[in-house]
Amino acid sequence: MGDTPRGPGELLDLLLPHSCGGCGRAGTAWCADCAAALSGPPLRIRPRADPGVPCWALAAYRGAPRAAVLAVKEHFRRDLTKPLGVAMARGLDHLRDTARPLVLVPAPTRRAAARARGGDPVTRSAIVAASWLPGCRLVRMLRMRPGVRDSVGLGHSDRQHNLRGRIIVATTRPPGVLFPANAEVVLIDDVLTTGVTMCESVRALAEADVTVRAVLVTCAA
Ligand SMILES: [Zn+2]
Repeated sequence: MGDTPRGPGELLDLLLPHSCGGCGRAGTAWCADCAAALSGPPLRIRPRADPGVPCWALAAYRGAPRAAVLAVKEHFRRDLTKPLGVAMARGLDHLRDTARPLVLVPAPTRRAAARARGGDPVTRSAIVAASWLPGCRLVRMLRMRPGVRDSVGLGHSDRQHNLRGRIIVATTRPPGVLFPANAEVVLIDDVLTTGVTMCESVRALAEADVTVRAVLVTCAA
């Protein structure tokens, strides 16, 4: 047992990953180069399934941003929640009308996936983003009905079939109670692949009289 920790410092070294979640560089959880890769103005994207509102991404789904998203989702790198949330806040700052309140609505996740990941990383990062922006709040109002499969490996039409009618507004309170009527509502997610999740989310919100102003994702595949 030569690697048994001998003090609190060494124990922490075992618990906290000391490599960058974007590029693997030793000594930091998130290096300045990887932060720079997510800090430009958001890119306008045009998903195959058009949700009918402007869609934006902080970065393309490759390199450090992709590695960071996967590290959070699949390797439980909770230490990346804050840097990803701050990057989201910067992106929102570019897009928002600062005269109006801002409401972030996280895209819904499958319950099984959230359980496996110890919670929902998109919501955690959105909470950080909301805390960084004046006049901004997070409202979790979307839910997936049971029976939605993991979309990994599914083609465009299978994704549509998988999600059609399965995203619902999870609150019975009217939007006027949840946030001010002049608020800009932005849908947030980590990765946009085909746009099907956003189409279904925008549709579900419209049925509840919530108009989505824009979609912002960390990465566009
Ligand atoms: Zn890095």
